[in-house]
Amino acid sequence: MRGIADVVEFSEAEYESQFTTRLNNYQGLWKVTPVEYKRGKPKKDDRDTVQLCAQVICLEEMMKVKIEFGELYYAQTKHRQRIEIDEKLRIRVYSLAEKMHEMFREGITPPAEVGKHCSICSMVDLCQPRLTKKYRSVANYIRSAFLESEETE
Ligand code: SF4
Repeated sequence: MRGIADVVEFSEAEYESQFTTRLNNYQGLWKVTPVEYKRGKPKKDDRDTVQLCAQVICLEEMMKVKIEFGELYYAQTKHRQRIEIDEKLRIRVYSLAEKMHEMFREGITPPAEVGKHCSICSMVDLCQPRLTKKYRSVANYIRSAFLESEETE
């Protein structure tokens, strides 16, 4: 897996264990905690915890360490939530990653779920939700964009 974390915190540990790692240019042993920053507030679904767990898995692979917890910070509520990265969550992330790779292999772009949430989504430029909504084909999108531009001329 590959990912970009907003913030990764290192806290000093007293004893060496599977939960500690060493850092270049710093003495001592360190525990690793990713902190994912969100502009909004906690969601009803598990998308934020899934993203956080994916970051944990990347960091574990990269730093050869085990991570028990991650944190989600919500700007709207100015609150941090501690999330346990348990086996159930890890299995969910692996299964979603497998589905994603399958879609990628088959060249399928899933339709965007366009909504208010898109305006605060950091992926909006990459996602282009108007392009993929309602299983609209690229050809149809280009056709309607062309018609729109003709109408405004
Ligand atoms: S921009 Fe795309 S990824 Fe972001 S919330 Fe909208 S549909 Fe989802």
